[in-house]
Amino acid sequence: MSDDNHRTPLFFKGGHLAAEDEPVLFSANVLVEDGKITRVGEDVEAPANARVIDCQGKVLMPAMYDVHVHAREPGGEAKETIAACSDAAINGGVTGMVLMPNTIPAIDSSAMVQSVLDIAEASSRIPILTSGCITKGRAGKELAGIAGMHAKGVPVLTDDGSPVSNPVVLRRAMEYAKDFGLILASHCETMELSGRGAMNEGAVSYRLGLPGIPAISEEICLDRDIRLAQYTGAHVHIQHVTTARGMEAIRWFKGQGVKVTCEVAPHHLIFNEEDIQDYDTNYKMNPPLRTAHDNAELLQGLIDGVFDVIATDHAPHTEFEKKTDFVSAPFGITGLESAVISLYHYFVKLGKFGWDLVVKRYSAEPRRLIGLDPVPIVEGGTAEFIVFDPNATTTFSRDFMCSKSVNTPFLDQTLDGQVWMVLREGEILLERN
Ligand SMILES: [Zn+2]
Repeated sequence: MSDDNHRTPLFFKGGHLAAEDEPVLFSANVLVEDGKITRVGEDVEAPANARVIDCQGKVLMPAMYDVHVHAREPGGEAKETIAACSDAAINGGVTGMVLMPNTIPAIDSSAMVQSVLDIAEASSRIPILTSGCITKGRAGKELAGIAGMHAKGVPVLTDDGSPVSNPVVLRRAMEYAKDFGLILASHCETMELSGRGAMNEGAVSYRLGLPGIPAISEEICLDRDIRLAQYTGAHVHIQHVTTARGMEAIRWFKGQGVKVTCEVAPHHLIFNEEDIQDYDTNYKMNPPLRTAHDNAELLQGLIDGVFDVIATDHAPHTEFEKKTDFVSAPFGITGLESAVISLYHYFVKLGKFGWDLVVKRYSAEPRRLIGLDPVPIVEGGTAEFIVFDPNATTTFSRDFMCSKSVNTPFLDQTLDGQVWMVLREGEILLERN
């Protein structure tokens, strides 16, 4: 199939193109030959041997890249595998990702990195990078094999799922990270304050009778980690920011010239604690859904450019694990398959922001963050883009989803928009009828 694709030129006719920093879509035909975009323009015509793909009313945009994905392999194959995760990514218009190292065993050595890269090589349809742990076994005590993991191409160190609670350990890790040019990504949480909390602490948690995780659990750790980055000169990346105050702290530290970047997950923009009314465990993740005020402030921060990237924190769990009471259920929801569509349904369609923001924050900047080149739709560029149909809908049924798990608030919901086609290096990875 791939050879065939490379032989037959693909002509995308009559679509609208989205690009970062281009608020207005522009109409153009796009010609793809041998994996490359060779012509882009309104007056470009199809060569006689090309397959013509009618893109009337559809939007072409660079394919997405997700820097925060839990593929669960090894050790969690009942929840997800790298193969299923890569299919889920493609299903959602994502053509590359960085995996989190909280597998079993954890990815904390060059040997573990190599074994995950070997699995990816054998089973993934898209290129995959993995992050490595900051500390051995994510225990927060001793530094992981950072030099060896760096040599294997790990771009990011993180103990995601847990903070590095000891500031002395984190300081040493940042000094190493800086020396190796690695990003140190922080899951910000003060464990003593989180306790056995299951949702945001406040009026809603009191009403529902659920133990709370206060916003300051995240904010205190976030302040600490950025100050350590300021002190050591390391690049700290704050994962899944959920509170307006945390975001304002990042804005301020950025203004001071600290090397801090950060991400926001679609669910923290779309949902809040009020959505937990009926104790649905598909609204349980860590950090938790906060308040409607936080939703609004995070959205504004995304528009202002405080958030460098959008990342899903795709975190599959089996239905068996999630079908328990809210306190006992594991944290996390899937996100790869719904991210682009939910961003369209809740924001782009309503004029809150444009496709240019989606392209910048979920395609171009994630690639730049880890040292990859963005994939704009330009002549001479690699053909790595998606065709999105704003006039179609998507129902997130079990049949639709490729992930091994269906722990998403969108389960059996229908949203506007559809990822209609996905290309990488000119190869059609996904095509819907
Ligand atoms: Zn996390």
